[in-house]
Amino acid sequence: MGSRTFRAVVVLLLALLVAPAQAASAAPFTPGSPGLGDPYFPLAGNGGYDVVHYSLVFAYDPATRLFDGTATITATATQDLSRFDLDLRGFEIGRLTVNGAAAAFTRDGQELIITTAAGLPAGSVFTVVVGYAGVPEVITDPDGSIEGFVPTEDGAFVVGEPQGSPGWYPANDNPRDKATYDFTATVPAGLTVLANGVLAARTESAGHTTFVWRATSPMAPYLATATLGRFDLTQYTLSSGIPAYVAIDPRLPTGNVLRKLPDIVEFYASIYGPYPFEAVGAIVDDAPDVGYSLETQTKPVFYRMPDEETLAHELSHMWYGDSVTLTEWPDIWLHEGFATWSEWIWSEHLGHKSAHNWFKTLYNTPPQDTAFWTPPPGNPGSPAFLFNGTIYYRGAMTLQALREKIGDAAFFEIMRRWASEHRYGNVTTPQFVALAEQVSGQQLDQFFEVWLYRPEKPTVW
Ligand SMILES: [Zn+2]
Repeated sequence: MGSRTFRAVVVLLLALLVAPAQAASAAPFTPGSPGLGDPYFPLAGNGGYDVVHYSLVFAYDPATRLFDGTATITATATQDLSRFDLDLRGFEIGRLTVNGAAAAFTRDGQELIITTAAGLPAGSVFTVVVGYAGVPEVITDPDGSIEGFVPTEDGAFVVGEPQGSPGWYPANDNPRDKATYDFTATVPAGLTVLANGVLAARTESAGHTTFVWRATSPMAPYLATATLGRFDLTQYTLSSGIPAYVAIDPRLPTGNVLRKLPDIVEFYASIYGPYPFEAVGAIVDDAPDVGYSLETQTKPVFYRMPDEETLAHELSHMWYGDSVTLTEWPDIWLHEGFATWSEWIWSEHLGHKSAHNWFKTLYNTPPQDTAFWTPPPGNPGSPAFLFNGTIYYRGAMTLQALREKIGDAAFFEIMRRWASEHRYGNVTTPQFVALAEQVSGQQLDQFFEVWLYRPEKPTVW
C-alpha cells in the first residue's frame, strides 16, 4: 500500500517536471482490449464497454442462404475509449456508425475493430449500427462440433455455445456481458422464426413474414437463437402465467414428450425457486448434422424430438446456465453437472430411478475406465473437453455426493440460494463452495477437491 502511494507521487512529480504544460490535460483515450482473457477463448468478448441491448434485424432466405442484417447495439463505455472491438466472423460490412457518425473499421479474425471519430468517455452510453450481409460461416469447435447459423433443409438451426454467436451477429461474445435483445426477422412466407423471449408481432407482406421477438431478461450472447424453418407453433400459458411457445418441425414423428413441459418447469420452480424468464418453450427441429441440443434462453432448441431426460435437462438450464451463468468456460460443470443432476431429480420426483441410484450406477464404473473419470469436472483441461461426459456425469455425481453428505435440507437450500442470489449473474466454483460451506456449516474444501479436481475416481470424501 505504502509503496504504491510513493510510486504515484514520483510519477506525478516526473510528469510535472517533464511536461508541465500537459499536466492539466485529461489522460488519453485508449483502445478497449480485443478479448476478456477467458482461459479457453481469450479473444471472445472485448474490453472497454458493456452492452445494454442488441436490436437484431435481418432477412434470410434458405434458398440462397443469404443473410442480410442490421445490428443496433447500445452499450456503456467502461473506460475512455479511442477504439473498441466487436466479435463477428465473415460477412461484408455495409455501413458502420457510432452515435450516428460513420466510423472507420478493420477486420482481424473474429475482431471487428472500430475507431470512432471522437473518443467515447467512460460512463457514456453509445450506439453502434452495423449493416452486414453474406452467407453465414458455420463454426467448428475445438471438440469438432458445429455451431452458429447452421443451415438445415428448410432454414437454419441457430446455436452459439461457446463461440457461435459471432457467426450471425456482431457481439461482445462473452458470458459476462449479458444484455436484453430484440429480433426482427423476415423470411419467405410459410417459414417461422423462433427467437428468444416473447412474440411481439408477426406480419405478412409480399410473400414474406416478419417475426418480432423481445427478450427482456439479461442474456449471455451465446444463448441467443433465431432458429427458422417450417414449424408448427403452439402457444399457451403456464398456470404461473408465463407464456409458452412450442415449435415442432412437422417432418418429425409426433410424440407426447412436449406435453410434459409445464410439469417439468413447475417442478423445478418448486425446488429451485421461481422460473427466471419472461417466456418458456421449446424449438424442436430436424438438424441431424448438428447432433446436439442447446439451452437457448427461454426456448431450448433440440436437433430432434427429445426424450424426457433431455427435455428436463435443457429446461433446468434456465436456472443453472442461463440465469446463473459461469464467469469463465472451465467452470462449465456449474451448467452441465447441475442440468444432469436435474434430470435425476426429475426421475426421482416421478418415482422412477432415484438420484441416489443414478449415482450408484455410475459410481460402479471401474477406476481403470479413465475416459469416464478424467478429466475431472472442475478442470476440463482444454476446450476440446468442455462437453465431455465427465463434466456431465461426474459433475452431477458431485452434487448428489454433496446432497448425501450434508442432507436434503441444506442441499436444497443451497440450490435455491444459488439460483436466487446469482439470478442473471455470473458465478465461479469457489463461490459455490463458499455457499455450500456457509449453509451446511461444514468444511468442504477436501470434498470439492476430491470430486471436482482430482483426475482419478473419488474413493474417500
Ligand atoms: Zn446441458
